[in-house]
Amino acid sequence: MPIIDLRSDTVTRPTKAMMHAMTTAELGDDVLGDDPTVIALQEKFAALLGKEAACFVPSGTMANQAAIRAQTEPGDEIICHDGSHILHYEGGGPAALSGCMCRTISSPDGLFDEDAIEPLIRPGDAHFSRSRLLSLENTHNRNGGTVWPLEQIARVTAKARSFGLRTHLDGARIWNACAASGVKPAEYAKHFDTVSACFSKGLGCPIGSAVAGDRETIRKVLRARKLFGGAMRQAGLIAAAAIYALDHHRDRLSEDHANARMLADGLAKIPGVLRDPSQPNGPQTNIVFFELAPDARVNGPQLQERLAKEGVLVLAGGPRRVRAVLHLDVPREAIAAAVDAVRRVMA
Ligand SMILES: *Cc1c(COP(=O)(O)O)cnc(C)c1O
Repeated sequence: MPIIDLRSDTVTRPTKAMMHAMTTAELGDDVLGDDPTVIALQEKFAALLGKEAACFVPSGTMANQAAIRAQTEPGDEIICHDGSHILHYEGGGPAALSGCMCRTISSPDGLFDEDAIEPLIRPGDAHFSRSRLLSLENTHNRNGGTVWPLEQIARVTAKARSFGLRTHLDGARIWNACAASGVKPAEYAKHFDTVSACFSKGLGCPIGSAVAGDRETIRKVLRARKLFGGAMRQAGLIAAAAIYALDHHRDRLSEDHANARMLADGLAKIPGVLRDPSQPNGPQTNIVFFELAPDARVNGPQLQERLAKEGVLVLAGGPRRVRAVLHLDVPREAIAAAVDAVRRVMA
């Protein structure tokens, strides 16, 4: 039975062509600064984002945490959404690695407006922590793979800057945001001091993320990468996969988005399955959340377990909330099969 793995867009295996790019890459020692493939990737990524410099890192978590470390001091406060990846899924990184606190903003879809920022800014008085960094997430993972409108990013980051805050974009899935909106990566990045992005999600790489920013900040990111244990030697082996993915796997992300809508539409027709209430018009990108009616035969964890026996892997995000993520190893034909499996389990 072929497995349809919808747990995350991180589960992809490198394609043959990507493997070929990896095994034929020119290598050096990136800790000594002379791996030509890493250098090429960093230059390519920085150019794509319209920034001076970039630093290749092993994971999106390290990308975010090194960017935070580079732009804060212990006792500082980060303003972010309360569903942020940096807050929930990075092991308490802001506190553990940078001594920072997070001050949060709530909303159903992961987005907020500039009015939300001003009340959170601390007065410049020794009683308070220093409001230091605004971090946005695009697309927003936990709140539905939602895309920030460019205009709203401009307003929110301008407000943050007016209070002297630095700005970071957790762009783990910036490629999906770009595919959905038609906005170029640099147009988003223009509003931020630092931008992180993953190659190991929708782009299909086995390993790798990066941070882009101005030269001075990236020098600090590089120090943090070493400190956090993320400086790698013949890293060109994996940087080659990222270069390949930037060239070949960005255009196809809209297929994942179409498949996500098809999956959400198919699921919504199943008795007991409800659309994500925060996305009544369907998913914007490749992440599908759905809910189970209170009187449904199974709850989230039970659905996850029974679907796995049918060869369909999803993740229960709560007693009634389930997540399914589309990616390049899920072909269109698999969507109907996945919907059928959910229908069988729910019947
Ligand atoms: C996946 C993800 C990350 C980082 O993930 P790693 O697993 O550490 O590579 C960061 N931010 C968001 C929004 C993510 O979805």
